Amino acid sequence: MDGHGVMTVVACAGDLAFGALAFARRSKSALGLLLAVLFLDAFSWNFASLAFELSGVGVWHAVDRMFSSVMPAIALHVVVVFVGRSRSLRPLIIASYCGFGALGLFVQSRAWLPALAVLGPLAMLFALVLLLLHRQSSTMPDERARADLVALALMIGTFFGVTELLYQEVDFPIPRLGAIGTLMAMVLLATAALRLRLLGSEVPPVVALYALSFGVLWIIAQLALVRWLDPQMGSWVLGAGVLLLIVIASAREIGRFASVGRARSRELAMLGRFSEQLAHDIKNPLAAVKGAVQFLSEEHRLGRSLDGQMPFLQLIEQQIERVQRTISDYQRIAKVEPRPTPTSLNSIVGELLPLQHFGVTARVTIQANLAADLPECPLDRDLVMTALENVLRNACEAMPDGGTISVRTAFERARNLVAVVVEDDGLGMDARLLEQAVAPFFTTKSQGTGLGLSFAERVARAHHGTLSLSSAVGRGTRVTLSFRAFAEDDA
Ligand code: ADP
Ligand code: MG
Repeated sequence: MDGHGVMTVVACAGDLAFGALAFARRSKSALGLLLAVLFLDAFSWNFASLAFELSGVGVWHAVDRMFSSVMPAIALHVVVVFVGRSRSLRPLIIASYCGFGALGLFVQSRAWLPALAVLGPLAMLFALVLLLLHRQSSTMPDERARADLVALALMIGTFFGVTELLYQEVDFPIPRLGAIGTLMAMVLLATAALRLRLLGSEVPPVVALYALSFGVLWIIAQLALVRWLDPQMGSWVLGAGVLLLIVIASAREIGRFASVGRARSRELAMLGRFSEQLAHDIKNPLAAVKGAVQFLSEEHRLGRSLDGQMPFLQLIEQQIERVQRTISDYQRIAKVEPRPTPTSLNSIVGELLPLQHFGVTARVTIQANLAADLPECPLDRDLVMTALENVLRNACEAMPDGGTISVRTAFERARNLVAVVVEDDGLGMDARLLEQAVAPFFTTKSQGTGLGLSFAERVARAHHGTLSLSSAVGRGTRVTLSFRAFAEDDA
């Protein structure tokens, strides 16, 4: 094996190690699984080119081309998730997977090389612009440093990857740097993961060590096989290894469906609490009705006149109405069907803050600043109150060591909105977490339901408003709930 071969082997081990590390962090960071897929792809690509060189079997060349075709799509996806824009750019992601995926199917075509040589760098240029914009809008030095490392890894990966294309495909006299490129990109991203928490919270060194051992052992095992078997057979064994890794990764993916099951059990837990409260709210009026009916029938049995018992009948009627109200309230909250009445947002805030049942501790202070010019608007008091309560509870939970929550109301006449802004100076969220925070059942808390923000957003939408979030790690979070101030016809 020549120097380039050795370099490729080292790169393969590095790709596998980082892929395994990212994979181990998939529940901590939205980037985990994607980076694992990216580096499995890089491994397969490096590996296929090595196998082609060692065995000369043409199919490896096709495999090499296939894996290099989809790499730009995965890399672009990683960047889009990193900058927290996977929702707004979803059509682009899908289009790029379709485009580069199709390219992977036509590896024998003559158009393959020019198409990849143009589209690949173009996609990477776009990713780079996204990173630069993200870098400019981030205020935290750590996030900027992460963006720098990701951008650098992207540039090196692309540039060095292109040298490989030129060398292999058009015999251009250029050093082949593809393997070194993936290796350098891997080192940069590993630095971002280990030093700058690219993959969520701190990565325990032992996880990194396991990942590294995995990469090294795997590649040693594969090389040993190549030595013992004839080259062609060896290539097939190696290929089977790659396939096995892909199967293992997807098997774990199937396991993630089980986590849909976990979300389901959280949903059931929430349903449990909900029904408990409902039962409690219905029980008391029913007990009163039962008592009244028992009393009346006892009177009747004793042959006494019921003429003077009107108050009992009224009580029964009132209690039945109370039950009916409770049931329709629950239906409304479950479906987020607002029943708006002219209400002052200030009065909702004013009523909620002193209750403090959303988990305020002694170390958390609340500063309220209510706008004087707030008009009365069509709001559903209960829904808005519950939504706001969820937001306030999150703010408290984000400040385990105490802090200040500021609650502000405002009237935006031009946009016909009233808004309540809740700001905390707690843990904050990075761009990745921020993008997922509103999704139903997304939670980072061991006891969380992941339903607070999604409920609040549904309430705002049902009032023709929005929920918007802005946050920075270590600085805090601002949640703005807005509601339409006047219906169009009375504006
Ligand atoms: P839950 O509170 O049950 O986790 P939510 O929908 O209320 O569910 O919030 C989802 C996730 O968003 C939380 O787990 C947390 O990671 C994040 N989050 C929400 N609000 C804040 C906040 N004020 N500060 C930091 N992170 C927050
Ligand atoms: Mg919550």
